[in-house]
Amino acid sequence: MLYLSTRGHADRKRFCDILLEGLAPDGGLYLPEQYPRIDDARLTQLRETLATKGYAALAFEILSLYIDDIPADDLRALCAKTYTQEVFGTAAIAPVRQLEGNLLIEALSNGPTLAFKDMAMQLLGNLFEYELARRSEELNILGATSGDTGSAAEYAMRGKKGVRVFMTSPDGRMSPFQQAQMFSLQDENIHNIAIEGVFDDCQDIVKAVSNDHAFKARYKIGTVNSINWARLLAQVVYYFAGYLQATTTNAEKVSFTVPSGNFGNICAGHVARQMGLPIAKLVVATNENDVLDEFFRTGVYQVRGAAHTYETSSPSMDISKASNFERFVFDLVGRDGARTKALFAEGVAREGRFDLSQDPAFKKAAAQYGFVSGTSCHADRLATIKDCYQRLGQMIDTHTADGVKVAREHLDPSGAEPMLVLETALPIKFAATIEEALGRSPDRPAKFDGIENLPKRVVVMAADAEKVKAFIADHCQ
Ligand SMILES: *Cc1c(COP(=O)(O)O)cnc(C)c1O
Repeated sequence: MLYLSTRGHADRKRFCDILLEGLAPDGGLYLPEQYPRIDDARLTQLRETLATKGYAALAFEILSLYIDDIPADDLRALCAKTYTQEVFGTAAIAPVRQLEGNLLIEALSNGPTLAFKDMAMQLLGNLFEYELARRSEELNILGATSGDTGSAAEYAMRGKKGVRVFMTSPDGRMSPFQQAQMFSLQDENIHNIAIEGVFDDCQDIVKAVSNDHAFKARYKIGTVNSINWARLLAQVVYYFAGYLQATTTNAEKVSFTVPSGNFGNICAGHVARQMGLPIAKLVVATNENDVLDEFFRTGVYQVRGAAHTYETSSPSMDISKASNFERFVFDLVGRDGARTKALFAEGVAREGRFDLSQDPAFKKAAAQYGFVSGTSCHADRLATIKDCYQRLGQMIDTHTADGVKVAREHLDPSGAEPMLVLETALPIKFAATIEEALGRSPDRPAKFDGIENLPKRVVVMAADAEKVKAFIADHCQ
């Protein structure tokens, strides 16, 4: 299996090479040259695998279609080590439950940081440790977080050999629970840097450090952001697991609704559908930051500036530009790298937009790829959380509530086809909005009792890239 760039670069790479890289050299994103097809007989085998051997075995079967430069026994061991009941809280790893009627929820948020990002990041941590050891290399991960990504990365990399994490976050701006999750980690290879500024300042620092090529090379600076193909690949597995739990025969179809920001999670659904998984619709649910909904309704992709990116009560979807969207557009325009490059390197980079409304390819988004969309606002979120709790007895988080609200607009009217909403976080992470909706505080998993009172390991720093560089240099001995 070889990987290409969405912007048409001639190079082809293998999995372990792109694992440790960010963007392709031409600024594009990596995708496999083709999607392996799962036929009916193979899907039946996978159904057997999940039923008899469990999620880790299913993960190995899917991953091995895309990874041929790690020996099978090693890859199997990496999957077994990652997807355990101990780490993910249940034997099913991603259990499906009924909300009401044919509306189901796939739980992806029972990992160490209570958000779906653990599903991929935990695997990434084990893959990094494995590959760095094989190459006798080290990696210093520098990141910026407003909450979920940073904690998922830290819990995935803690104690891993060959890896250090330097995670910047805006001082005092994450929820108390999120701060406690990150800052209570005492592992020597994890460094929390609270920046006196906002999230954009943190991102600017990461960019400035990465643009210092000499520093970047000398200190082996890398990232773990959502454009990493290995993260996307790990997410493909739970679309299979969700489908297999919601059906009994391969003749059935299901739809998925996915609370979306950077288009990473739902892009994995697109890959699963291209592999032949019987998915009817892929429903993109956005919050007030509705860049993606606008595209799927109109064919116009118009990124928003920082001033037009709203701070909402589903903050992990507050994005102005969907960093994984280019992967889908590449497929939409018939895998034309030159065309994709023009749309993103010229359209988006120079004018902040492109317009496919008059292009025949745009019709394929719905007709051939199954995409539809919708939005949800603060009032919808509160009403949905309240309805699910008071009428259905289930407490859901703010992002999942956006998903449920939009999913209800796209249910199969016959009631036959299941609709799975991906649960992207647990309510405890966003307690203030749950209290606003329900007048009570959210349930807290026992292992997080008193987390806010644990000793904190964090340094506060001015928003100055030179200071961050000096800190990294100091801690790389
Ligand atoms: C990251 C995140 C999302 C958005 O996922 P994308 O892959 O960026 O679309 C939604 N909900 C929660 C809770 C998240 O942490």
